[in-house]
Amino acid sequence: RKTSNRKSSGVYNPDMHTYLKETVLSEMNLRKGLDMNEFKLFYQPQVNCRTGEVIGFEALIRWQHPERGLIFPGEFINLAESTGLIMPIGEWVIQEAVQQLKKWAERGMGKMTVSVNLSPRHFLHHNFPFYLDKCIREAGVKPEKLILEITENVALEDQTAVTSRISLLKEMGFSISIDDFGKGYSAFIYLQHFPIQQIKIDRQFISELETDSKSTGIVQTIIHLAELLGLQTIGEGVETKEQWDILKSLGCSELQGYYFSRPVPVQEIDGLFDKYGRA
Ligand code: C2E
Ligand code: CA
Ligand code: CA
Ligand code: CA
Repeated sequence: RKTSNRKSSGVYNPDMHTYLKETVLSEMNLRKGLDMNEFKLFYQPQVNCRTGEVIGFEALIRWQHPERGLIFPGEFINLAESTGLIMPIGEWVIQEAVQQLKKWAERGMGKMTVSVNLSPRHFLHHNFPFYLDKCIREAGVKPEKLILEITENVALEDQTAVTSRISLLKEMGFSISIDDFGKGYSAFIYLQHFPIQQIKIDRQFISELETDSKSTGIVQTIIHLAELLGLQTIGEGVETKEQWDILKSLGCSELQGYYFSRPVPVQEIDGLFDKYGRA
């Protein structure tokens, strides 16, 4: 196969996608995307497991690229992390999420929460608590409405640093949630050492609830353990009513997944309130 002239051939070929990907996904373009305000937050509802009412949202970043269309985080977050651009991107995410909380509070929806995803590097950066504090004070938003999601990967970093960071954020009033709980190797380190408030049960366990009794056992045990430790549980990636029913019977606190809604642009949020009601 000739590859030398693929860029000029003009007809579609399977390499085209890869080519576009290679050229679009550079550090320079990521920086430009940030400057040109091409990033968007999509919001996926989180519902009360008993009632199905919307209680908050997870904010998920997308890149609305002028030529390539919507680009998902799986394609650019690694690059953002390796180039350090994850810091300004993460700050943008926080700023957006806080502004959304402010708008809801102004409309009498002060109970609504937003969860944001943080990379370990940003979360542990010395400036991070100051930035958070500045954002919420300027917007007049309560810290407990902003939930900070970190993955178990953070535990691979210096444990003392992680513990003191989580403790400080807790004192400041923020909630910490452990994303993809059960997927990594350090789940129990979190429970033992870090003052967290919530765990998000990894989608993989949820997807096998109906078919695999081992998954049911694992999820049941996670929920039971969380109850003993006074932590909230969110079932992630709920796609069927059966999964909802099982999680309800197991006593899960909250749910999130395509069964309720895919992540949507901000304009579609009111439609979700109409459909599911809100706390
Ligand atoms: P995550 O934090 O585990 O987010 C959940 C992902 O699962 C989202 O993919 C969401 O669209 C998808 N999802 C939700 N419900 C379902 C379901 O029922 N079934 C299935 N199959 N998938 C479901 P998305 O938006 O592509 O995000 C992928 C990952 O990118 C996120 O995983 C998170 O780790 C990262 N990410 C997203 N936004 C940000 C951000 O603002 N900052 C950072 N650092 N990472 C982000
Ligand atoms: Ca997440
Ligand atoms: Ca997750
Ligand atoms: Ca909650």
